[in-house]
Amino acid sequence: MSEFEAFRLRAHDWLASVAGTFGKAARKGLSEAEDLALGRRYLAARFDAGFAGINWPKEIGGQGLSHIEKVVFDTEEMAFGMPTVYFGISLGMPVPILIRFGEDKAWVKERVIAALRGEEIWCQLFSEPAGGSDLAGLRTRAEPDGNGWKLNGQKLWTSWAQYSDYGVIVARTDPTQPKHKGLTYFWVDMRAKGVEVRPIKLAGGDSHVNEVFFDDVRLDDSQRMSPIGGGFGVAMTTLMIERYVATDSGGFGPPLDLFVDLVKGLEINERPALNDGRVRSAIARNHAMRAGLESITARAMQMLQAGMEPGPEGSLNKLVSVRSRQKLSELAIDLQGNLGFAFDEHAPVKDNWTTSWINAPTGRIAGGADEMLLNTIAEKILGLPQDHRPDKGVPFNQIPA
Ligand SMILES: Cc1cc2nc3c(=O)[nH]c(=O)nc-3n(C[C@H](O)[C@H](O)[C@H](O)COP(=O)(O)OP(=O)(O)OC[C@H]3O[C@@H](n4cnc5c(N)ncnc54)[C@H](O)[C@@H]3O)c2cc1C
Repeated sequence: MSEFEAFRLRAHDWLASVAGTFGKAARKGLSEAEDLALGRRYLAARFDAGFAGINWPKEIGGQGLSHIEKVVFDTEEMAFGMPTVYFGISLGMPVPILIRFGEDKAWVKERVIAALRGEEIWCQLFSEPAGGSDLAGLRTRAEPDGNGWKLNGQKLWTSWAQYSDYGVIVARTDPTQPKHKGLTYFWVDMRAKGVEVRPIKLAGGDSHVNEVFFDDVRLDDSQRMSPIGGGFGVAMTTLMIERYVATDSGGFGPPLDLFVDLVKGLEINERPALNDGRVRSAIARNHAMRAGLESITARAMQMLQAGMEPGPEGSLNKLVSVRSRQKLSELAIDLQGNLGFAFDEHAPVKDNWTTSWINAPTGRIAGGADEMLLNTIAEKILGLPQDHRPDKGVPFNQIPA
């Protein structure tokens, strides 16, 4: 048995042993507050069992294992439906960036352990009303103030900001520079004076995204995580991590087995739906597509393990998987006739085709809209000419707004 297979079995056994306390059945009917509290308890248990921070260094509270063991554990964990959603962004991007760029190593270690145990949550404050796809167009500003900075402006679509203790943020520190050059990267205390979080209700009924306002919020210079004016580079590192950390060949929707199980119980024109050509083709296409995406991710993990940077092909993952999830969810609803429209706003996205379908459009925007991923594929993989960029090199304060 390979070391990875032995690890997979150990992970599976532990997950199965706690599934009754934290898994799908235990979560059924819980309010969001109760589910979050259960999630915090699950993360503490996962930490104590030695399955937290799998590929992070031991010195800061991780397990010192490889990226491959991390993917193995995540894949096993996903099947049990544990309450990890509140911590996905926190442990996915901001905390790894803190490990890499945080100055005060003792403080960083405390934060990392608190985040791994689910005691603290971090959010990612990048997008704004004028800076989403064009992140470098952001207008939140940090101005020098004594030995620190004063932060003013607004962020938008910040996932889980309402539960966050800290956030990583990109702000404009020099509007006289071209847009990519005048940005600086900080961490911010979400409980600081002048921070206001307002949840936004989404089509699926939940409110995990927020507007966040900053009104004269004081930042110490020790909260700076990039050179002054060097924030865009750290932001790009964050987004590169996102392309590979935030992957799921099912597009963050239900597993293909759930579709097969559904279809087994249905008929089309009094014949088993499983014999229908459209249904068989959907199953085959999705199986092949998911296997292809999983091999792109596996290759990226092996590259990371070997100390290399994976290429832009990570952009394919979300583009293809979320589009396919949307189509498959539509087919699942269609096949159920009127029953397909029954909508339970508490049903998890991964267990319910209607919830999956209604939430799919947000997945095609979050973490890079489809068109932006197509631009990346066109320019970086296919080598096509760059998109027209009329503001390239122009000082930010001279770009018409
Ligand atoms: C559920 C959800 C969670 C999110 N969580 C976070 C979070 O935690 N933190 C965070 O910082 N952000 C978050 N976001 C924001 C997300 O990153 C942005 O919504 C996304 O980058 C798109 O930006 P935008 O909304 O400003 O749209 P815009 O950039 O205004 O785009 C509008 C449309 O124009 C298209 N478009 C824009 N530019 C081009 C171009 N050059 N070529 C072709 N088409 C183009 C886009 O593809 C899109 O269809 C989240 C969004 C969602 C929906």
